[in-house]
Amino acid sequence: MTPTDDLAPQTGQLRVLHVEDNQLDAELVAQALRKGGFLVSMAVVQTEAEFERELRLQRPDVVISDYNLPQWKGMDALDVLRREGLEIPLILVSGALGDITAVECIKRGATDYVLKDGLARLPEAVRRALQEKRLLRLRQQAEEDLARKVEELARSNADLEQFAYVASHDLQEPLRMVAAYTQLLAERYRGKLDENADKFIGYASEGALRMQTLIQDLLAFSRVGRNGAARERVDCHAAMKEVLLSLGAAIQESGAVITHGALPAVWADRSQMTQVFQNLIGNAIKFRGKEPPAISVQAEKASQHWLFSVRDNGIGIAPEYAENIFVVFHRLHGRTEYPGNGIGLAICKKIIERNGGKIWVEAQADHGSAFKFTMPCDGPADKEFCGDENTDIKSLQELRT
Ligand code: ADP
Repeated sequence: MTPTDDLAPQTGQLRVLHVEDNQLDAELVAQALRKGGFLVSMAVVQTEAEFERELRLQRPDVVISDYNLPQWKGMDALDVLRREGLEIPLILVSGALGDITAVECIKRGATDYVLKDGLARLPEAVRRALQEKRLLRLRQQAEEDLARKVEELARSNADLEQFAYVASHDLQEPLRMVAAYTQLLAERYRGKLDENADKFIGYASEGALRMQTLIQDLLAFSRVGRNGAARERVDCHAAMKEVLLSLGAAIQESGAVITHGALPAVWADRSQMTQVFQNLIGNAIKFRGKEPPAISVQAEKASQHWLFSVRDNGIGIAPEYAENIFVVFHRLHGRTEYPGNGIGLAICKKIIERNGGKIWVEAQADHGSAFKFTMPCDGPADKEFCGDENTDIKSLQELRT
């Protein structure tokens, strides 16, 4: 039935298919509906075969059915409607229907029931049934629209990712040529052409190298989850240990003190999880203030997820940039001030969100930052903490033990 058919009862005739063996009762029902303001066109049937034939001839707006018929049961009309995939409301009109039977009928799918000696209520019952059907259709339509939009969004995201991957992957080769040949030019012809030529060649090879780094970062970003993450139980304490070892030089050079509480195991890709800690702690060291970095990594259980925080005493972030910093290549400082390309946090966000978590920053300019992220704790990983609590990592020596 098309949506315009649905509107028919409001504007035109109400098409009723009535399952009834008593001609007088059928007439009384039609009368009650007319009295209630409907323009009624009614077909009366008594058997399943007649019912099916009428259904095919014209789709009714409503089925009204007696409960007991000599050759059929009124409620069986519901099975026929279901079999035909029709969502037409069925209202029982019966001489006597005990409460228990009435409840049973409603449970089986009848929309309403009206007693034959209370037919004045029938028009209202029909109106309500039609309204319910309209609302149901609207809800189904809204759900279908939403599902279609989600699917379109997922497809366009996948296309975009594929594009970013192919573009960054395929650009590498020609860029390698540009970089190699500008470098060759610089080596062979430095001092042999004029002063400007040396400068221009220098700019060209610097630009090519910079573009190479950007393309590699973009490729790293688009690779996250590209081949499906290999999820396993990741002990975050062990991941932290790995990160602190690989950041050893920066920790030592900056005099950073890194503490962490007990950390749980989560269900994730090990190298991705390690990368999240590495990017956050690396940034906490890089964007340090005048004092040596003091960094604290904590986790706590919050209903269905773990809440992690990486807190530092660095330069902080003005609240208006709190969202932008997670966008690819978005940075708040020049590269001469702080090195980097602005991809680290975008990668963290992609990893965390792919695992069903969220990431955000709570920060103020000059007052340090607290990066927070959640990870679901309903996976097959341990639901409890593992590893030592309040480890104070000051020296590499300690880490290596
Ligand atoms: P990158 O470190 O290469 O700049 P990121 O994506 O890791 O890229 O970070 C984006 C920006 O967010 C940084 O340039 C910096 O401005 C800001 N930022 C990230 N971490 C911190 C931090 N711990 N303290 C202050 N600013 C930060």
